[in-house]
Amino acid sequence: MLGQRIRITDSWTDQANCKGKTELFFEGRHEKPSERRRREAKAAKVCADCPVIYQCRMFARENGEYGFWGGESDDERWQLGYLKNHTIARRHKARVSRAALKESKNRVDDSIS
Ligand code: SF4
Repeated sequence: MLGQRIRITDSWTDQANCKGKTELFFEGRHEKPSERRRREAKAAKVCADCPVIYQCRMFARENGEYGFWGGESDDERWQLGYLKNHTIARRHKARVSRAALKESKNRVDDSIS
């Protein structure tokens, strides 16, 4: 497998454990960081015993995919240097930062009231 480019059309997707569970693997609209952490923890459990985790992870890394693939979040791929499209990646990071700020503000508001 090393040195071979992995494509989404390859048959590995037929063996995916996540079939029918798309909502666990992609960010929902207006998702809070805490909701994201919970969703991704559930997704990681689905990936943990998936027979095609290697192919899936490498596909996402090579193609700069967003969402949770092969047991990795897009933030983890970003940290490892796999998200190459800087415009999209910057927008994504800004969205994550805004959501984190909003959540921390809500926690402060809750502690005051
Ligand atoms: S590793 Fe995870 S995201 Fe990839 S096919 Fe398997 S269950 Fe789906």
